[in-house]
Amino acid sequence: MEKKNIDWGNIGFGYIPTEARFVANYKDGAWEEGGLTDEATITMTECAGVLQYAQTCFEGLKAYTTEDGKVVCFRPDLNAARMADSCRRLEMPVFPEEKFIDAVDQVVKANLAYVPPFGSGATLYIRPFMFGSNAVIGVKPADEYQFRIFVTPVGPYFKGGAKPITIRVSDFDRAAPHGTGHIKAGLNYAMSLHAIVDAHKNGFDENMYLDPRTRTKVEETGGANFIFITKDNKLVTPKSNSILPSITRRSIMYVAEHYLNMEVEHREVYFDEVKDFAECGLCGTAAVISPVGKIVDHGKEICFPSGMEEMGPVTRKLYDTLTGIQMGHLEAPEGWIRVIA
Ligand SMILES: *Cc1c(COP(=O)(O)O)cnc(C)c1O
Repeated sequence: MEKKNIDWGNIGFGYIPTEARFVANYKDGAWEEGGLTDEATITMTECAGVLQYAQTCFEGLKAYTTEDGKVVCFRPDLNAARMADSCRRLEMPVFPEEKFIDAVDQVVKANLAYVPPFGSGATLYIRPFMFGSNAVIGVKPADEYQFRIFVTPVGPYFKGGAKPITIRVSDFDRAAPHGTGHIKAGLNYAMSLHAIVDAHKNGFDENMYLDPRTRTKVEETGGANFIFITKDNKLVTPKSNSILPSITRRSIMYVAEHYLNMEVEHREVYFDEVKDFAECGLCGTAAVISPVGKIVDHGKEICFPSGMEEMGPVTRKLYDTLTGIQMGHLEAPEGWIRVIA
């Protein structure tokens, strides 16, 4: 198959429409079979549930080419399960998990020409999402929904290596204790936009959100979970009902324990402890791990011993091991790699 003529090493993280996407509609209480289409534009009523009351959720995963030339994706079953959780919390019908995985396969197969070659650092980003599509004016769940998956090739997240970033402790809150922080709802991002624009204006790369109730415990950033490494080599990662359960973070916990023989603690992490950690990172599908060099709390700086030049050594090992599993250099745990083509 002929690849598209794209400068794989130099594409950014933006939307490049491809030829095929998957669409299935929900109507009269049932999902239609759904299938591929070349129509990238959605037409719907001005009163759609998604437009009036933000009834929408999404997922994000990647397909990529391994060293031996296979096109694979990473743990799509967990994205399917997480989207089902999001839908239940937002009173949306669940798109069956097996059908979700099958739809991912179909879209990637139909867009093989857009899957970046091995070694380019680029990947094919896969965006499943769902939204209420019929007219809703009194506040209630929609009766009709659309489930869609499009894909878009994205460049290497870090051009020229991952430099540690600087983050600030945010005065804004991300997710209330019994709110929607644990699901991938579009509304969680809408309300984070002001905080991130303000962070950038003030010279910070990201916001660290604390728990809104006590403002003493670390939650996450707008779109990535935290990992910390203690001075005696343990992996510590915050636990809270309002943190989005990152698939990357859960995979890193497994890798730390089973591949690197590290002790792993998934527990509440007080902000007061953060100054004592040796390394800090952010994890999510897009970058896998972004190293954090500095955290600023209203003028007070925490500078990690790993510095501002490169990833800390333990973070680096975790990163290399997880990406080694993803790329096929290292044997993957059962069920982690789904071969699509
Ligand atoms: C998607 C997301 C993450 C990262 O999850 P992955 O499954 O690792 O990509 C972390 N935090 C938030 C708020 C997210 O929406």
